[in-house]
Amino acid sequence: FSNIAGGVHHDEDGLVNPSVEINFTQHLINGQFVDAASGKTFPTYDPRNGEVIAQVAEGDEEDINRAVAAARKAFDEGPWPRMTAYERCKILLRFADLVEKNSKEIAALESWNSGKPYYSQSLGFEIPMLIRLFRYYAGWADKIHGMTVQADGKYNVQTLHEPIGVAGQILPWNFPLLMFAWKVGPALACGNTLVLKPSELTPLTALYAANLLHEAGLPPGVLNVVPGFGAAGSAIATHMDVDKVAFTGSTETGKIIMESAAKSNLKAVTLELGGKSPFIVCEDADIDDAVANAHDALFFNQGQVCYAGSRTYVHERLYDEFVEKARALALRRVIGDPFKHGVQHGPQIDSKQFEKILAYIRSGIESNAKLECGGQQFGNKGYFIHPTVFSDVQDDMLIAKDEIFGPVQSILKFKDNDEVIRRANATNFGLTAGVFTKSLETANTMTRALKAGTVYVNCYGLVDAAIPYGGYKMSGIGREKGIYSLHNYLQVKAAVTPLKNPAWL
Ligand code: NAD
Repeated sequence: FSNIAGGVHHDEDGLVNPSVEINFTQHLINGQFVDAASGKTFPTYDPRNGEVIAQVAEGDEEDINRAVAAARKAFDEGPWPRMTAYERCKILLRFADLVEKNSKEIAALESWNSGKPYYSQSLGFEIPMLIRLFRYYAGWADKIHGMTVQADGKYNVQTLHEPIGVAGQILPWNFPLLMFAWKVGPALACGNTLVLKPSELTPLTALYAANLLHEAGLPPGVLNVVPGFGAAGSAIATHMDVDKVAFTGSTETGKIIMESAAKSNLKAVTLELGGKSPFIVCEDADIDDAVANAHDALFFNQGQVCYAGSRTYVHERLYDEFVEKARALALRRVIGDPFKHGVQHGPQIDSKQFEKILAYIRSGIESNAKLECGGQQFGNKGYFIHPTVFSDVQDDMLIAKDEIFGPVQSILKFKDNDEVIRRANATNFGLTAGVFTKSLETANTMTRALKAGTVYVNCYGLVDAAIPYGGYKMSGIGREKGIYSLHNYLQVKAAVTPLKNPAWL
């Protein structure tokens, strides 16, 4: 290689490529990398050009059975739930240190398999968040405690907060490492054992990270990783020996998982699903700030974000100026090879998402929304789509109702605050909302009136380990991150003992 810079190298033609070997493509079960029981593999791709980058062991029901058996044994007999919480804390901290040490390599793998810009997103966002989340939950490991309860009568009553057991975790492809951290961090801190299925589109970094966790001292069987398709996810959701399932992905699959949990052993369920989040720019907003935030709210990660601000409502007095500035900003967005310095916008994840997004763009044009810019493929290889802006969007258009999960900004006009609150809430989703205003009263009113798990005022999309995240309505069930995630991975047991010695009561 002519120029090796961390996780990236420049070849003779000046092309930038990932400089990383793919070493982990098998299932990780009971601390060992093994082939699928069926011997089957499936290809995983580079979204820049659609080329195969590796063959990965394809998990099905039999592999999930083996992984669950390993997790069950590790929970029922192994050291993980029994060691001191401080020991667990130290292993999670060691893992965070190892991620820091290997950050360029793991970031290169993430960008190679998902197409996200290497410098700004993989190295600049996902890796720091992975480290931050593990350090945050390592800190919680030895601070989990129950209560003493003043019950009626002469009893000593305590609540014990115990790990829930074997947790199944099913991940999406849009933030493979971030989702790994959101789910694995709190579950391990509480002393659970896990069976994790990464998305079939992005299986590589979960395997890499799981290997590092073992290097950090995680005992065998505590974290088992089985890549595969929906069938493997379904085997987790229906398994009688899985005590809890956590899922992030589409609302349709979320419904199936909940049904599977209900029909099997009534395992506990948390779901992080889709969104169609309103981003409201009030009459008194700082327009440049609002334009910049609305742009990031939608185009970050090529629009493949569940909390994307995908309905941009702008007050009629600011509307024309806002549209012009939003268009200019979208045209300036730097699109290209995700491994190049300065690139902000890479390819969509695969041909299916690429075609789906282009179909939504056609539907916007056909329903007479005004295409301000973009609207077509960038280049002729891979799955790149130009940042696209529509104005004159109406609430009943498909582009204003469906989750597009792509780089398509829809700008709608409103007249007054009560009207925009009604319109913003007229959806089955309720993940996040954004409000730009200088009025404290408007900020307070909107924060209370908007039906969403997070309301950002004069900012958008802050993701921090301590901030809870989750949805109202069909955007999900439960909250992840912060202290709230711990509740998902703990059982509360009331321990009741009579107090018998009257001399001391
Ligand atoms: P998906 O919901 O089909 O897949 C997510 C995960 O669920 C994957 O690991 C998949 O293998 C697994 N899965 C699929 N069928 C399953 C089943 N029956 N039982 C258990 N697990 C199953 O999402 P997708 O097909 O990758 O993307 C489709 C749409 O979902 C996107 O266009 C987007 O709108 C939405 N999405 C949302 C998020 C989010 O963060 N909320 C993430 C990814 C995708």
